[in-house]
Amino acid sequence: MDEYLALFPYTAAAARYVEASGRTFDSLMTAGEFSDSVLNKSVQRVARAIDSDVHSKPVERDDYEIELFSYVVGRALVSCIREAVLVQRYANAEAHDAFSKLRNAGERLQDEYIARLLEDFGMTVSADNNIFELHFTDLIKYTSRLKGPQWRLVNLMNRGQVRLAKNEMIQVLAEAVRLKVLRGLPLKLSSKMCEELAPYTSPLKKAMSVASSHPTDSGPVILEACPPCMKALLSQVKAGQNLAHPARFALTSFLANIGMKAEEIVHIYQTSPDFDYELTRYQVDHIKGASGKDYIPPGCSTMETYGNCTETTGLCKRISHPLSYYRARLKRQ
Ligand code: SF4
Repeated sequence: MDEYLALFPYTAAAARYVEASGRTFDSLMTAGEFSDSVLNKSVQRVARAIDSDVHSKPVERDDYEIELFSYVVGRALVSCIREAVLVQRYANAEAHDAFSKLRNAGERLQDEYIARLLEDFGMTVSADNNIFELHFTDLIKYTSRLKGPQWRLVNLMNRGQVRLAKNEMIQVLAEAVRLKVLRGLPLKLSSKMCEELAPYTSPLKKAMSVASSHPTDSGPVILEACPPCMKALLSQVKAGQNLAHPARFALTSFLANIGMKAEEIVHIYQTSPDFDYELTRYQVDHIKGASGKDYIPPGCSTMETYGNCTETTGLCKRISHPLSYYRARLKRQ
């Protein structure tokens, strides 16, 4: 199976593969090694979206088909849970994943994936030497959420034909992925299907309700009230160290959720040796989202999984989320 289908499972090519495979919902719900792997993977996929765990993991060749079908079943799980916030998070997670996969691919594969995605989204683009040229009307539908002067309507319209650098093209494609996933959900599924999926949706609903209990803060940002893990990450950034992706995402989403402005967050990262304005701005804008609640930072267990939890005593012993720590400290103050 083609790796592209596993990495970008929302494409028309992936849909054709699923159809040709002849696999049905009933066959996936029938016990067996393949079905079990798909169901487990799809639960992980949705759980990662709920927990804003956007760390992209490489997919082994033997798992391509499991990866593709986990997206299909993941959509069913999200549809049965029927929460608008989850639909948003699922779409955001897939967009973030597409962005990371495109950014991290080697140049040859990157060019191939970009070309195939452009074709899939029906965008007519001419590419020359890593510059992509398209008409602004093709671009405008994907840039309403992107921030920065290069995406402002007036600038796009003035130029007619728009020239984008490869990084910008990747941002646009990630946004196209987000919209495609978003617009395809929720699916209309029978109550019988949702009943059969209940053993898998039930823990996800609980995780969703925990995640939703951490609304975005709009008060002033009090850095002294931040939990030890976030203070440690802030110190590392200030000391000029590069943060690994999960740590960077955790810190960025935490700061966004406690009400820090996008430009202030970007400013914090300016001391990083690998500072990349576009990448940071992209992450911050997507995390803050249109509603300001699109992503929450990972919970303590995910922080621990990636080695980013630094304290297990005191208040940390009693909470399960860095935002709960912050809120508790604010109350005390
Ligand atoms: S327990 Fe939670 S809040 Fe405390 S340091 Fe670890 S991850 Fe941060």
